Amino acid sequence: MADKPKKPGFTGWKFTVIYLVVFLAIMSSVNFFLSGKSSSTIDFSEFKNRIASGEIKRVELNENSFTGYITEKKPPQSLPFQFPLDPRAVPAPQDPVYRTVPINDPDLLKLMDEKKVSYYAVSQQSGAILNVILSWVLPIALFIVIWRFLMKRTGLGGNVLSVGQNKAVIIAEGDIVTRFSDVAGVDEAKEELVEVVDFLKSPEKYTAIGGKIPKGVLLVGPPGTGKTLLARAVAGEASVSFFRMSGADFVEMFVGVGAARVRDLFKQARDKAPCIIFIDELDAIGKSRINNVAGGNDEREQTLNQLLVEMDGFDGTSGLIILAATNRPDVLDPALLRPGRFDRQVLVDRPDLAGREAILRIHSKTVKLSSAVDLAAVARSTSGFAGADLANIVNEAALLAVRGGRVLVEQKDFFEAIEKTVAGLQKKSRVMSDEVRRVIAVHESGHALVAAFTSSSDPVQKISIIPRGFGALGYTLQMPVEDRYIVTEAELLGKIDVLLGGRVAEDLVFGQISTGAASDLTKVTDIARKMITDYGMSERFKNTALTQRGGGMIGDTLPDPFLRREYSEATQQYIDEEVARITETRYAHARELLAGKRQLLDRITALLLEKETLDEKEFNELVGVSRREFL
Ligand code: ADP
Ligand code: MG
Ligand code: ZN
Repeated sequence: MADKPKKPGFTGWKFTVIYLVVFLAIMSSVNFFLSGKSSSTIDFSEFKNRIASGEIKRVELNENSFTGYITEKKPPQSLPFQFPLDPRAVPAPQDPVYRTVPINDPDLLKLMDEKKVSYYAVSQQSGAILNVILSWVLPIALFIVIWRFLMKRTGLGGNVLSVGQNKAVIIAEGDIVTRFSDVAGVDEAKEELVEVVDFLKSPEKYTAIGGKIPKGVLLVGPPGTGKTLLARAVAGEASVSFFRMSGADFVEMFVGVGAARVRDLFKQARDKAPCIIFIDELDAIGKSRINNVAGGNDEREQTLNQLLVEMDGFDGTSGLIILAATNRPDVLDPALLRPGRFDRQVLVDRPDLAGREAILRIHSKTVKLSSAVDLAAVARSTSGFAGADLANIVNEAALLAVRGGRVLVEQKDFFEAIEKTVAGLQKKSRVMSDEVRRVIAVHESGHALVAAFTSSSDPVQKISIIPRGFGALGYTLQMPVEDRYIVTEAELLGKIDVLLGGRVAEDLVFGQISTGAASDLTKVTDIARKMITDYGMSERFKNTALTQRGGGMIGDTLPDPFLRREYSEATQQYIDEEVARITETRYAHARELLAGKRQLLDRITALLLEKETLDEKEFNELVGVSRREFL
């Protein structure tokens, strides 16, 4: 998912500040003109002089000022206040007005009586409030009205006054009708989540023993495989409240808003526990901060930090579980995946043949099918489709039936719907031709078979030719029997054998090789090179480390370019040759192994093509006898 083009976070504030400054400038100059234009402040003595000279005919006495007018007319009493802002109280500009700071001088009254100057006091009280309203409250109200209008017009604001308010969709307990039975084809993910439901239903069971309830579960998988659906099903099964929010909802214009939202969300959720917080599209806020060194996004970073803080801030006994979903696990900040946060990751993969049939069955429950419809056949021709694609096909088939004036959906409607969908999916390289599938099946069978007959190798857990969405076309999963802190030379060579097995099988079966092994070869070369440069496993540099790790605290996570090379060109050449020699020898070894088991290879390939995934049991049934002999 690409970043939405977004205005930088400070634009709104910048605009507001400029607006405020301009507004204040205008206001004060208006005030200045209204109050100051035709009056001047003079010394008290001069004020008296001008009364004595008869220039001032009328004096207004005020707590703060005495104002002398050269006209005799009094302003109407209905306007007790003075300026600023009320032009009626201001004498005509041509009349000079004198103002002075009052001094308690009894002589002044005498002087004014003498000179027949009319004088009167103006009470401040009644005028003051109106004055304040006119000169401050009104302009400020005006200021806010215009500001909001401009913010809306320029699209900068809109939720200025809802800062920090939550957009989470809160679904109360009992409102969710989704159940695990509505989800199919993702059995492993379901299995893991059943446990989460159990946690939510009876946390005592786990806390009594002293176990910690997981805080965060991350659903990882390609789009449309049912991650959101699974999260709802968990809430539905556990019958707890469900707070749903998309990662994009946290990302806002103003720095701090996203963080405030996170805080608010967790506060609400804690009040409602036990409950589930579901953050869909976690990658929108969870992008790695590391890649952001230059020009990082402050807002997103703050939001992410707040999320981490909140996740650390509650313990496993509070009955709060955070589910999140992403289809870009590769971009997530590693801090999110640490223990105590999203330490459980559940893979939600595209369904295999049996899974697809089950999903089709779920979605056609509400559709009237002709008895001749064979959903298994539909499933067979939808390899690579995700759950959402299948739901779409059922719907499309129903529409086609209606368009054709039929009351039941026929098989041909399904196939027409598939055809319509395939074209689109092929562009996204989710659907493969039979030829490509065959190559992938042979390749993966090769990996698995070499693994089965390499004694140092981990047992094969799963083989699949369903594209995984993260680059790999198929995959062979091996489960380590134990954590390995040290690896022997034989085990490293075994790893190389298994990695080469894919290409060897293609070579054997088709007599030609493909690009499908590219990432295997990268790993092979990496292992072989490290054997020589890091582990001292070559003839010439036995027990010598040729590379120096680039020290510092993050030393171990530094990518290879940061390693310091401390050897000559000649040594480099030796390393290259040695790497090539190792791969060549291992290739020959793997080829010999697979050539001796050609029939087995073909059988695995055939079954894999049929079922698309083989689990440990199915695989061992096939290789069983000969493997036991081998061991
Ligand atoms: P994701 O969140 O992984 O992108 P969704 O959960 O939004 O996918 O799936 C979209 C729709 O596709 C679901 O509402 C459901 O109708 C259908 N769907 C997807 N996966 C499955 C599945 N495994 N089983 C049943 N229906 C599915
Ligand atoms: Mg989703
Ligand atoms: Zn491979």
